[in-house]
Amino acid sequence: MLFLVGTRDSNIKNGEISNEECPKCKKENTLHFSIYRRYTHLTMIPLFPVGKLVFIECSHCKEKFDYEDLSENIQSKLRTEKLDNSIWIFTGSFILALFLIFTIKNYFEKKDETSILVKNPKEGDVYNLKFSNGYYSNMKIDKVTKDSIYTTHNDFDAYMPYEIDDLDKAENYSDKKVNYSKNELLKLYHEDGILKIVRKKSDLNFSN
Ligand SMILES: [Zn+2]
Repeated sequence: MLFLVGTRDSNIKNGEISNEECPKCKKENTLHFSIYRRYTHLTMIPLFPVGKLVFIECSHCKEKFDYEDLSENIQSKLRTEKLDNSIWIFTGSFILALFLIFTIKNYFEKKDETSILVKNPKEGDVYNLKFSNGYYSNMKIDKVTKDSIYTTHNDFDAYMPYEIDDLDKAENYSDKKVNYSKNELLKLYHEDGILKIVRKKSDLNFSN
């Protein structure tokens, strides 16, 4: 996914500065202003505002002025212009915050679920594993006895954790039989060798 970060300007208000004269041609009521809000965006989704820009032009002599070139009186009139609260400018920040909250919540829920499931292994459970050599893979539990579990390891390894789930296909479990005692399984979990346990929803049962 490609992210584009940058700033954009949005025209939020235009108007005329009343009862003031142009510093150049001295005509009254000819100064027009345009106020822009500059905001940062992430792939065109606005994140937060970073400043305001003001453009002033005389409709009579067409001279353009910077804010600093204007009299204190005109500057203060510009400062008191009512601007709408543009909440939309924070859209991206809200989305990012929600995404972050969801990800953190999900992480802890999964961690919690794994800690429960690992104590009560069931036939059919799929374990996502992290090996000490840095690779990832999974294994499926074939049989559970009083103190041991019998598994088949996946024929394939993954390089990245998010690829592990894609390996979980029936035809990928052939003949890599590995047995663990229940204590070894817990040890593996406490050494962060078990990332996730997938149990079919109908079998979700936290009793025992
Ligand atoms: Zn003018």
